[in-house]
Amino acid sequence: MELIRRLFRRTPPQLPGTLWNDAMNSMPFLARLDDGERRRLQTLTERFLAEHAISGAGDFTVTDDIALRIAAQACLPVLNLTLDLYRDMAGVIVYPSAFIVRHSETDEAGVVHEWEAPMAGEALDAGGAVVLSWEDALEDHAWDDGGNLVIHEFVHKIDMGNGGANGCPPFLAEFHQRIAPAHWTTVFSAAYDDFCRRVDAFERRLPANFDEDNESHLDRYAQLAEALPMDPYGAENPAEFFAVASEAFFTRPAPLAAAYGQVLELLEHYYLQKAIRPA
Ligand SMILES: [Zn+2]
Repeated sequence: MELIRRLFRRTPPQLPGTLWNDAMNSMPFLARLDDGERRRLQTLTERFLAEHAISGAGDFTVTDDIALRIAAQACLPVLNLTLDLYRDMAGVIVYPSAFIVRHSETDEAGVVHEWEAPMAGEALDAGGAVVLSWEDALEDHAWDDGGNLVIHEFVHKIDMGNGGANGCPPFLAEFHQRIAPAHWTTVFSAAYDDFCRRVDAFERRLPANFDEDNESHLDRYAQLAEALPMDPYGAENPAEFFAVASEAFFTRPAPLAAAYGQVLELLEHYYLQKAIRPA
């Protein structure tokens, strides 16, 4: 099996130039990459497509263009690292829109609660797949609002490389000598605690009985969320904080840099990329 994979690596499929250029131009957050980085992203994307199946679910057809856009975004975080960070992934599954996932949780009294909820994306642990809603992924391509579903789910996958997702990804001897794990924990914990306080204050200013189907409530939400350095979903837990901070790092880093400069610096040392180019 390993031999076959290595052979594949030597002869990755060549992407048609126009398809690649169209995909790059459709995602403005890739504009910061220089020519060398663009070429490397293309090579990695070709290898990613050779190594991982991207399949449709719910009658969805994954076109070459869709596969290419997903693969390119998946490769962005590992541009200067290694595709081995996705070695244990059982492929990518794409639904046309939000998909329903059954959740189950046991409360403190031992009562099992089960419910179904629509999801835009999910990264399954222990060698599982990455599952995406194309409708939601596509929304993040055209504009830089600091959110990116595909990057988010693949960062969870990276985070799972040393056990479950907990906001502390694997540090690789080859790439991460500059990161002291204890420093990572200290910086991220402090930023996470501060962000939770900011999100608590943000939620207190939302309309009472907030209704996500109410247009004026949604407008108020968007207006208040604008003052946060990143998506309030990052306050969910430390794994979500790392994934949401990474989305901001790759798509709209300035507010993150202003609020949590040390987090931005550690992400630069982790991804070995400069989020903000000197002017
Ligand atoms: Zn998440």
